[in-house]
Amino acid sequence: MKVLIVSPFRKGKLIESVVSNIENYEVVNTAPLQLCTLLKSQGYEVAYLSLQNVFRTFEKKDIDRLEEILGKYLCEVLIVHTDYYMNNANVACLYSINLIIDIVKKNRPNSKVIYCGKLTEMLGVDLLEEHLPKVDVAIRGEAEPVIKTVLEFNYERYKNECVGCLYRKGSDIYSISGTNIIEDYNKLPPIEFDFLNETILELEKIGKDIKALPISIRTSYGCPYSCRFCENTEDWHKYRKKDKRILLSEIRNLKEACNNRLQLVFISDELFTLDIEHIKEVKSVFEDNNIIVNGLFSHVSDITKEKVELLRNITKSIIFGGESSLDSVLNISNKNSSYEKIVESAKLVKSSNIAVGFEWIVGLPNMRVEDYLLDLNNIYKLIACEIVDFIEPYVFVPHPNTYFYNNCRNIGMTICGKNEDMLEEGGFSTVSYKDGLSNKQITVMYLIYRYVIEEAEKAKGHISKNMKAGCVNIEDFKDYIGEFL
Ligand code: SF4
Repeated sequence: MKVLIVSPFRKGKLIESVVSNIENYEVVNTAPLQLCTLLKSQGYEVAYLSLQNVFRTFEKKDIDRLEEILGKYLCEVLIVHTDYYMNNANVACLYSINLIIDIVKKNRPNSKVIYCGKLTEMLGVDLLEEHLPKVDVAIRGEAEPVIKTVLEFNYERYKNECVGCLYRKGSDIYSISGTNIIEDYNKLPPIEFDFLNETILELEKIGKDIKALPISIRTSYGCPYSCRFCENTEDWHKYRKKDKRILLSEIRNLKEACNNRLQLVFISDELFTLDIEHIKEVKSVFEDNNIIVNGLFSHVSDITKEKVELLRNITKSIIFGGESSLDSVLNISNKNSSYEKIVESAKLVKSSNIAVGFEWIVGLPNMRVEDYLLDLNNIYKLIACEIVDFIEPYVFVPHPNTYFYNNCRNIGMTICGKNEDMLEEGGFSTVSYKDGLSNKQITVMYLIYRYVIEEAEKAKGHISKNMKAGCVNIEDFKDYIGEFL
């Protein structure tokens, strides 16, 4: 059976509407490659296209190119894969999934379509009823345990052998309860990376000279925390890790694949620093292979001096979800963090000569103009006084099935905007608050965060490291941005 697996693309970010031919590439995600490798080992003829890399931005005029690319694959089954963990790769892709399915079905009307990713858990039956009307089967949770049975399209067998899937039969949609979970990732074959050859070929056709396509790998899955803007799947707390043997094989595969044109740049585990024994195993694999990644994620409640020391030779930076400097906002977000811990963790990491960065969220609930001003003031100090090396602001996105999404009425939040705008780094807010800022005002606030960060960067080395925080002029601030508030 011929199977085509694709990673759909998202709408470009604000910067990509200004410069639509940015040369650096989107980092490749390995979740679909895991499924490709498994299906190949089960005897399927598998092709893979990371359309997310081929189309960094997508304009109407690109439809001909998309048709030409997909026209080469007369597959019996199309699998659309949007990742089981990253929220950002999901709702924002809905529009492109439908475009892709339409083209594949036009070329081969009898082909079947399977959806894999978080959307099945995020949107439930609405996914097939409203959002993806041409998908035949959507798998809830991780697809690997049931994909072989699903690919038989024998719906009678589904009832007995497949937990957790939605399927379409005539005009009816059926839902089999449960969620699929890969209990042990080490029982899956190590990921093969040559599946990326076709993607590289497509990038070369548009004039990109691929010498080092950036890849982010995963060494563990799941997170023990329950941040209210993030957690939204059943297996979220089910922490699983890949062992040394599998990781070693994957690193070797990665190095040898695609004529040595792949480069491992990032570890995308939700929380790489959870388990010290795991850090030691990964460290030994990386050191044996001379790998130093650009970054990995940690949590301020979890980092220790010992862990930071272990990470010194395998990563250039440690990134935390800071989200806010206001404890009230961290508490309402169930972040299990505080501003004090943010500062302590930053100092701990910097003392080991590793760069420290924080992700920040603009537009979380319970923020008044005064709160934004204090948060901006703290950000200025963190950067200008070199307590942190960088802060990357994102807009708050109400990902479906998160606590904030499910309780939006109680917190006076209205969800607005199109699905494809639900992108954290996109630059546009898609929420408005009854007693707070509107989506347009939050978008302006996001730009102000970027402005303050840029000004703080310029002030590095020119101000006292002991500068007092909290000195603000609320009247002038309201005056400056009064037009928008
Ligand atoms: S710690 Fe990070 S990955 Fe875990 S729930 Fe919170 S935001 Fe999500």
